[in-house]
Amino acid sequence: MSRSELTLSVEACVDCGLCVAVCAYDALVLRGTGLEIIHNECVLCDACVAACPTEALAIEPVGSRATVS
Ligand code: SF4
Ligand code: SF4
Repeated sequence: MSRSELTLSVEACVDCGLCVAVCAYDALVLRGTGLEIIHNECVLCDACVAACPTEALAIEPVGSRATVS
């Protein structure tokens, strides 16, 4: 079974913070430099993926594309 991880498309993200607001695990932090994913805290619940208005977040198999964190 392959592992999955949350990935962010930096180009698509507009730093709105909606994903940070819905994450119950403090796995997302919005900094001046952009959104940061704390992978160790993320449980892949999909809430942020559903909340993102620009589809910047996705849960994908590890290594399926370059991950920018
Ligand atoms: S998938 Fe769930 S736990 Fe992971 S960052 Fe998104 S809302 Fe938080
Ligand atoms: S909800 Fe989407 S666009 Fe908004 S900060 Fe999160 S990843 Fe970026």
